[in-house]
Amino acid sequence: MAYPTGNIMAGKRGLVMGVANDKSIAWGIAEQLAAQGAELAFTYQGEALEKRMRPLAESVGSNIILECDVTNDEAMDKTFAELEAKWGKIDFLVHAIAFSDKNELKGSFVENTSRDNFLKSMDVSVYSWVAVAKRASKLMTDGGSMITLSYLGAERTIPSYNVMGVAKAALEASTRYIARDLGPSGIRVNAISAGPMRTLALAGIKGGRDLVGTGREWSLLKEDTTMEGIAGCALWLLSDLGASTTAEVVHVDAGFHAVGVPESAASAE
Ligand code: NAP
Repeated sequence: MAYPTGNIMAGKRGLVMGVANDKSIAWGIAEQLAAQGAELAFTYQGEALEKRMRPLAESVGSNIILECDVTNDEAMDKTFAELEAKWGKIDFLVHAIAFSDKNELKGSFVENTSRDNFLKSMDVSVYSWVAVAKRASKLMTDGGSMITLSYLGAERTIPSYNVMGVAKAALEASTRYIARDLGPSGIRVNAISAGPMRTLALAGIKGGRDLVGTGREWSLLKEDTTMEGIAGCALWLLSDLGASTTAEVVHVDAGFHAVGVPESAASAE
């Protein structure tokens, strides 16, 4: 992917959480931030992922690659202690983490949602944002900016998205409450509501890959969401260009969220 280069992030350091491979949204954002001069640290979970993560991180000049399972408080404390020992302070954070049992990302929400997976989905996909924001904010001693990734399923019903939609609604509400608490410390907190992208996470949703392509037919721009669009929005929010913007959910979905009824469903006459 070719991202615009420059110095918008020169002198800024930050942590990127949620790169699984080079298709991950977090990776597109990382590439754009690096192309604008940011210094990056990454987290991964699991040994296999470290093997995939290392060459990616090195390709953007990063050698800080830390293990972090966000369901484990001690693991998170250790990750942020290691980051503090390396850098002392950070300027930004990218949280691009979600999980739900794919057996429940299909069919009926009301019939298929178990208590266990409801709690697990909320833990990994929502509480992790709160837990990570708490720890990252302690390192943002000169203010900072943090973002998470959401989806339209927070606001509208999407086939098969089910419990993840409920989790994304809670993620967006959490963004506003975190922003409220951290605002006085000069820390901005926002979410990007991205259109569908071909990633591992999308593959876990039944029919998820069919969502890619709907933008071309139904969005206002008549095109699919691009990684460049998402990464550009992240650059705006995480840099000083985003001054004064906090507690916001910015849609980067070619205007899909604003469509009530598509042209194809209405008579042209
Ligand atoms: P992805 O490449 O699969 O990234 C999801 C990441 O979450 C992976 O790195 C995954 O690590 C990590 N994760 C899951 N459980 C974790 C845990 N317990 N501890 C630490 N990390 C954990 O997919 P993606 O689409 O880029 O997803 C990034 C974010 O964007 C998610 O919040 C997703 O809901 C959101 N989003 C995606 C789309 C889309 O269409 N793809 C649209 C809007 C929003 P493992 O691989 O090791 O599990």
